[in-house]
Amino acid sequence: MCIISARKFLLWKEKQLKKGGDPQLFSLLLDSLGGLSKKELNFLKIKSEKNLKLKIDLDLLETFWDKHLLSSIPIEYLSGISYWRDLKLEVSNKVLIPRPETELIIDIVSRKFENKKEKITFVDLGTGSGAISIALALANPCWQGIATDIDKNALEIASRNFSNISNQSNLKFFNGNWWEPLENFKGQINLAIANPPYIPQATYEKLPIEVKNFEPKNALLGGEDGLDHIKEIVQYASSYLKKKGWLLIENHFDQASRVKQLFIKSRFTDVEVLKDFSGIGRFTIGRYN
Ligand code: GLN
Repeated sequence: MCIISARKFLLWKEKQLKKGGDPQLFSLLLDSLGGLSKKELNFLKIKSEKNLKLKIDLDLLETFWDKHLLSSIPIEYLSGISYWRDLKLEVSNKVLIPRPETELIIDIVSRKFENKKEKITFVDLGTGSGAISIALALANPCWQGIATDIDKNALEIASRNFSNISNQSNLKFFNGNWWEPLENFKGQINLAIANPPYIPQATYEKLPIEVKNFEPKNALLGGEDGLDHIKEIVQYASSYLKKKGWLLIENHFDQASRVKQLFIKSRFTDVEVLKDFSGIGRFTIGRYN
């Protein structure tokens, strides 16, 4: 804990921002490592005679900021925290930092399943930090959730996130590749969701270094055309989904029409492409038979 005058802090902040970097990311650093929220920060500007409390001292905060500026390491990996929807999630470089566009999946699902009392079994394939599955399990306490991941380290983070956030037991975690760990749930899934690795090889090579050098390659790369994992998920979905069960997949900005065709080829009906905040066809949804 460190207590300093707002005036001193604001001067220090100005010095840090002069070094470069994104002011939004600097605010995230102050919040997640310093414990100073954006709201408190704005308040300081008009009450500069005040003192403020920080979780760590300015020198240490500066060390973290310098490290970020020097190597481009994401602030989320420095702090071990990522904010997503209304969740505060633990993250490490074993999991993808959950993206804002993925937040929409929760709204799409709640529109499809308006009857909140309907008891359904859902699965989040390749859960990573657990963002999607935890948000759904929290919003729908009578749903039974399953989260899978091929990486045991990721699954540990996801399950820790769930127990830190929820006191319910409606989400279970299984280790394995896509549908593989779900042998016992064949024909029982009402809703399957995946944000699989979908970046094409050539695009992956050109990703910004904050992504390419730090985020797990196996959570991003989807083979030559980016569709390797999406194809596998769609192809085997029919064995696991209940009749009329839904499949929802997030895809890269230019893949929606190809993913839609994959759904149709695998005998999905009511296939729809839904847009993200930027108007990009980002999610493909359909139901099996
Ligand atoms: N949306 C992520 C990105 O562009 C990719 C996530 C994924 O491959 N599922 O960095």
